[in-house]
Amino acid sequence: MIKVDSLKHTFTIGKKGKENRVEVLKGINFNIESKEIVAIVGKSGSGKSTLLQILAGFLKADSGSIIINNTEIAHFSEKESAAFRMNHFGFVFQNFQLLPGQTVFENIELPLKLKGIRQPVRKKKVQEILKKVGLMEVEDHYPNELSGGQQQRVAIARAMITNPPIILADEPTGSLDSQTEQDILLLIQQLNKNEGITFVIITHDEEVASIANRKLRMSDGFLVGGTKYAF
Ligand code: ADP
Ligand code: MG
Repeated sequence: MIKVDSLKHTFTIGKKGKENRVEVLKGINFNIESKEIVAIVGKSGSGKSTLLQILAGFLKADSGSIIINNTEIAHFSEKESAAFRMNHFGFVFQNFQLLPGQTVFENIELPLKLKGIRQPVRKKKVQEILKKVGLMEVEDHYPNELSGGQQQRVAIARAMITNPPIILADEPTGSLDSQTEQDILLLIQQLNKNEGITFVIITHDEEVASIANRKLRMSDGFLVGGTKYAF
């Protein structure tokens, strides 16, 4: 489903004339199969989020190949990236990134609105998803009226509302206490099993990584490993 080959990226940091070049990705290779949960682990600053930004097409790599469902996307224009992203990826972030002025229902509905889906269809779809993530009672609440775990459920619901085959999650439990973290990880496993969603989870936490089918480690600009966990 995802095939990345020789991906390289260098950032130029600092004031003009005194710039530093930081080689963050030095030649990344990996494959992800459909319906896997893959964890990308590594210490802070090792380039995990950069890799995710590049996979999603928010950032262009300096070189290398990214093939998703048989399509080479590394050289896409911004417009092509945006369209591809809308049909292939959902996103979940550490800080939830919900719209504070919109209710739970409206936050989840938004990607469907952007796709031009009609209101009755949107309503039915959002109701289905609210049930799947366990948020039926709070659909008219605003994000600041929810717990962290509930907010992350809203973000997951929003990420999956357009049925993307892949959800990219960057430290999805990084802001949650350990019990809530377990709840969210269980939800991710359920959605993977029942809905067949492929998850790429970025984390610095080995315990979070242990729910994955495979773990890839970012180390000195390279991605190593791929150990299968036995269940
Ligand atoms: P991680 O997610 O593993 O903590 P990041 O991918 O966020 O790591 O960052 C990797 C390195 O790239 C860091 O040294 C960071 O300072 C640098 N970096 C990340 N984003 C940018 C950017 N937009 N501009 C310049 N440097 C960046
Ligand atoms: Mg990061």
